[in-house]
Amino acid sequence: MPPSPVHSAVPPAAPAGAKEPFDIDEAFRRLRRALAGLPKAAMFELRDRGYGTPFEQLVASLISARTRDETTTPVCLRLFAVARTPEAMAALDEAELVRLLQPATFPEPKARDILALSRRIVTEHGGMVPDTMEGLTAFRGVGPKIAALTLGVAFGRPAIAVDIHVHRVVNRWGYVSAPTPERTMAALLRVLPERYWIELNERLMPFGKFVCQGISPKCSSCVLLSMCRQVGVTTHR
Ligand code: SF4
Repeated sequence: MPPSPVHSAVPPAAPAGAKEPFDIDEAFRRLRRALAGLPKAAMFELRDRGYGTPFEQLVASLISARTRDETTTPVCLRLFAVARTPEAMAALDEAELVRLLQPATFPEPKARDILALSRRIVTEHGGMVPDTMEGLTAFRGVGPKIAALTLGVAFGRPAIAVDIHVHRVVNRWGYVSAPTPERTMAALLRVLPERYWIELNERLMPFGKFVCQGISPKCSSCVLLSMCRQVGVTTHR
């Protein structure tokens, strides 16, 4: 039987041996079960706690850049207790916002970016967050990953957010073969069924953090070992 279009997109880079064909539906079924007890990624945790508006998700995504989820979530909760709309955020004093953003990384530039986008949303967009990739990435500090998270989690629009965890994991699977997160996103847009575009980030952030870690992934106990090609994995547990 010929391989499906998804699976034939990139041939396995490692000898398959006794591996099963990589089945994306089965992979998501296993991931949902395996991740049930692990902490959620910050954006999804905030959404489930009631902070899922486009503005809250946009600001939270910006704060999360290069900041651990364990820091992002409490910082966002503290900030949103003070300001959770573009109008309220735009009215904050910059020094006060910097103080609220600590201990997230780069609080000064993030405060400037959050204030600038809040003011633009109020003055140029009638208080509404743009719902397109072009509109979101027009804000300083908002790249494709932040825009995709906002579109997917807050607007429910099909978008693929590729962070370093997503990039590493799907390349190790052999599902795509791309050298950078940007090219991984482009490859996923071609091969990943749209029903998984939003869920991909939700599952692979905790999976990459706790199981398929950058150094020495936990392959021997991984639920995907039977189908994962382990591309580039030289040492594992
Ligand atoms: S932990 Fe190992 S087996 Fe599991 S997805 Fe990562 S590389 Fe593949």
